Amino acid sequence: MSTGRGEAMKVRFSASPAAWGEWAPALRAALPEMRLEQEGPPDSFDAIIYAPGGDIDDFAPYAKARLVQSLWAGVERIVTNRTLTQPLARMVDPGLRQGMAEYCTGWALRAHLAMDRHAQDGVWRNDQVPPLASDRPVAVLGMGELGRAAAGMLGGIGFPVTGVSASGRAVPGVDVRPIDQLDQVLGRAQILICLLPDTPQTGNLLDARRLALLPQGTWIINPGRGTLIDDQALLQALDRGRPAHAVLDVFRTEPLPAEHAFWHHPAVTVTPHIAAATRPATAAPVVAENLRRAMAGRPLLHLVDRAKGY
Ligand code: NDP
Repeated sequence: MSTGRGEAMKVRFSASPAAWGEWAPALRAALPEMRLEQEGPPDSFDAIIYAPGGDIDDFAPYAKARLVQSLWAGVERIVTNRTLTQPLARMVDPGLRQGMAEYCTGWALRAHLAMDRHAQDGVWRNDQVPPLASDRPVAVLGMGELGRAAAGMLGGIGFPVTGVSASGRAVPGVDVRPIDQLDQVLGRAQILICLLPDTPQTGNLLDARRLALLPQGTWIINPGRGTLIDDQALLQALDRGRPAHAVLDVFRTEPLPAEHAFWHHPAVTVTPHIAAATRPATAAPVVAENLRRAMAGRPLLHLVDRAKGY
């Protein structure tokens, strides 16, 4: 691909040092005509590929860049950067969708089938037959790319899924409610999956009052962001046995500090932000397509709404 000035497109890669070895071959294979570099004069680059952990804090000198393409779906660490005036695209790719749907479904089935109770522990405890999926209401907060993927897989198994989004926009096969009906949705959710972005509006959305609305026995699964739930309120609610359990993949501080109560609470399962990784094999073609669009002046994919923050 040429920039139209007879030169190859030059792209700056800014992510953690470890990411370069993983990403560079896949990105170059997806877009062989691009010159992908880790350094160089800022005003020489046509686009930036970005992930947290990189070395760019000030985007202003990258005056020629037509696109900043995030390798992450969550963009809360970059969206408030005032030096960033270039179009910002977030990561949406099939691997992320599939990974997140599998994560949510796997942990939802652990809750639904009471695997912890029924796995062999030396006691013949056959007094409780789990209900079928069709009798187990699931709520998914966030009906974006990942929330819809999770809802689709869970609905395919037979769970009745209610979705919640800012707009309440319709999604086939899901009973979607706008955010002002959140309290009613929480009141029926036996499995609650949080897939909202981290924005000023979603911080501590699940506070003490809302946690108290959940029915007895509910499991919370949060692969969205740690800021969505008030940590202390969750611990106190878990101490009272309601919700029954929380599976947490994301935290206010990551890695989760060794002394944090979540590590030790018997009703908390911690996973290390692995719900859905951006895999170069599936994501590099998405990045390549957006870079091609940027250079051709065509509409960009997956643009972040800077005012909304996602
Ligand atoms: P999208 O931007 O596609 O979707 C976001 C959804 O949240 C939309 O349905 C939106 O509503 C809804 N929403 C936003 N703000 C509010 C609000 N205040 N109240 C109610 N609903 C709201 O995001 P994705 O689905 O792609 O990703 C969701 C999040 O998942 C990411 O932001 C990231 O934090 C997390 N993530 C976690 C990973 C992990 O490994 N743990 C991996 C990747 C992502 P509407 O449709 O009306 O706009």
